[in-house]
Amino acid sequence: MTAFSRRSLLGGAAAAAGALALGARSAAPAAAAPGTVPLTREEHRVVVIGSGFGGGVSALRLARAGVPVTVLERGLRWPTGPNAETFPRASAPDKRLLWHRSSPNLFGRPMLFEPYTGLVEAVPGVNMTALCAAGVGGGSLVYQGMSLQPTREVFDTHFPQELDWALMDRVHYPRVAAMLGLAEAPDELVASENYRAARVFAERVRRAGMPLSKIPMPIDWDFALAELRGEMKPSYTNGDGAMGVNNGGKHSVDVTYIAAAEATGLVRVQTLHEVTDVERAPDGRWVAHVLRLDTTGAVVENKILTADALIMAAGSLNTTRLLVRAGAKGLIPGLPDGLGQGWGTNADRIYVWTDPDAEFGAPQGGPVVYGSKNWDDPRSAHTVIQASIPPLSIDPRSTMMVGYGVSDSRGAFAYDSARDDAILHWPADGDSDIQNNHIDPAVRRIAGPDGMLIDTNALFPSTWHPLGGASMGAVCDLDGRVHDQPGLYVLDGALLPGNAAACNPSMTIAAVAERALDNIVARDIGTLI
Ligand SMILES: Cc1cc2nc3c(=O)[nH]c(=O)nc-3n(C[C@H](O)[C@H](O)[C@H](O)COP(=O)(O)OP(=O)(O)OC[C@H]3O[C@@H](n4cnc5c(N)ncnc54)[C@H](O)[C@@H]3O)c2cc1C
Repeated sequence: MTAFSRRSLLGGAAAAAGALALGARSAAPAAAAPGTVPLTREEHRVVVIGSGFGGGVSALRLARAGVPVTVLERGLRWPTGPNAETFPRASAPDKRLLWHRSSPNLFGRPMLFEPYTGLVEAVPGVNMTALCAAGVGGGSLVYQGMSLQPTREVFDTHFPQELDWALMDRVHYPRVAAMLGLAEAPDELVASENYRAARVFAERVRRAGMPLSKIPMPIDWDFALAELRGEMKPSYTNGDGAMGVNNGGKHSVDVTYIAAAEATGLVRVQTLHEVTDVERAPDGRWVAHVLRLDTTGAVVENKILTADALIMAAGSLNTTRLLVRAGAKGLIPGLPDGLGQGWGTNADRIYVWTDPDAEFGAPQGGPVVYGSKNWDDPRSAHTVIQASIPPLSIDPRSTMMVGYGVSDSRGAFAYDSARDDAILHWPADGDSDIQNNHIDPAVRRIAGPDGMLIDTNALFPSTWHPLGGASMGAVCDLDGRVHDQPGLYVLDGALLPGNAAACNPSMTIAAVAERALDNIVARDIGTLI
């Protein structure tokens, strides 16, 4: 493919008007024909599929308990450090942005690149395109890093009370916060020229009489201050790190949980290993069918791994797709009826906010400084934050606001035999209550009468926060054990009940996994594991 797109991410989002979702490039991955590439068989005690939040927590806690773990990760490692050029710049995306099997339509328009085992996969469904990441560290590579813990009231309204918010508040959320080194942007940075947009947002939120707080981020902000002093090329302070921060200083899962897991000597992460099918063997053990890829996505080896225990941590979309396919094809008989259901979007909304009179500045520093947590009513709780836009050659008089919140709307995955894939079906009016009656009005109050807003999701329905599909209660117990499938676990965003209690999901995915691993280590090692 020779046609390369050279547009900034903002350009793609704002230009989404009228664009329709394109289909995926290909359906589910297929093994190379027998004989064309080697087939290898391996036996392991525990196989974890995916190296994001759920996979990172699982690998570390099991290894610290003395259990050897093999992590299968379809994507690459993305090492960073001062002045690195590892990640694609948001202002000039290239092939590194896109997972080779992704729909090219990330933001309402196709991004056409050479096939590459890149960072983001867009999964188109009916009425909804959901996005997720690929690479060691999973979503933490490209996420902004907003790390919010829900209040007890909102959590207890939308999560099973047996999870015990008080225990998680005392033990598991703080443990995650410590692992990720959470910190708020320092005032010295926020007062700088590059953070005008953050200051305008704060002033407008205060003027609207809404709550304002700094958002905890997994960032060593000294890196951003060093950029301002000219000691490193800008990555934080010009908004160009929206698809990965090149300079480092971001405590993503690869450099925290996964690095600590590998340091035990008991964890091996196999990159460019894409699991195509999961299966229960006649002896009750678990089988992962794997393609080893090169960086163009071509298959160089077929592998079959058998393990005593299989931990699904491929993220809400891919854990659910793998399990629904396994159920439909009879590879795992007796999976729970609720599998593939109870899936939610976190009611995500991304707005481009333009105001000719506002001094948002260009470039705009990021990733995120402030948010407005409107959490008083647990049934309509929602959050609005300001995020920087990538650097442009002119001052666009624009910035971004992002909203998300609780919602009862749910979608479901259904197996399509023609595509050999589980396809997401989302109701056309899903999330309309929280969005039309709460998030939109909040964003409009902040923007004020002179602010112009483009709701990019109304033009191209999408979410960066897929949740559920193999949820606690219907499919798993609270520790992620799949009902009636001894040795099979779900420990990622698929386990959540379709929402994250008005927060970005990563803190809660990791804290739920931390809580589960405490119990799994105490009860399952030596029996199921
Ligand atoms: C652009 C962007 C911004 C975001 N911003 C925020 C934010 O600010 N705050 C926040 O809390 N959340 C944010 N999120 C969401 C957050 O990243 C996810 O909720 C979180 O990463 C999900 O964790 P997980 O453990 O469920 O799965 P993931 O972190 O998605 O990890 C799953 C891993 O499994 C791998 N995998 C998938 N399928 C296979 C397979 N078949 N074989 C082998 N490996 C496989 C993937 O490559 C990936 O590495 C953002 C997401 C995106 C994409």
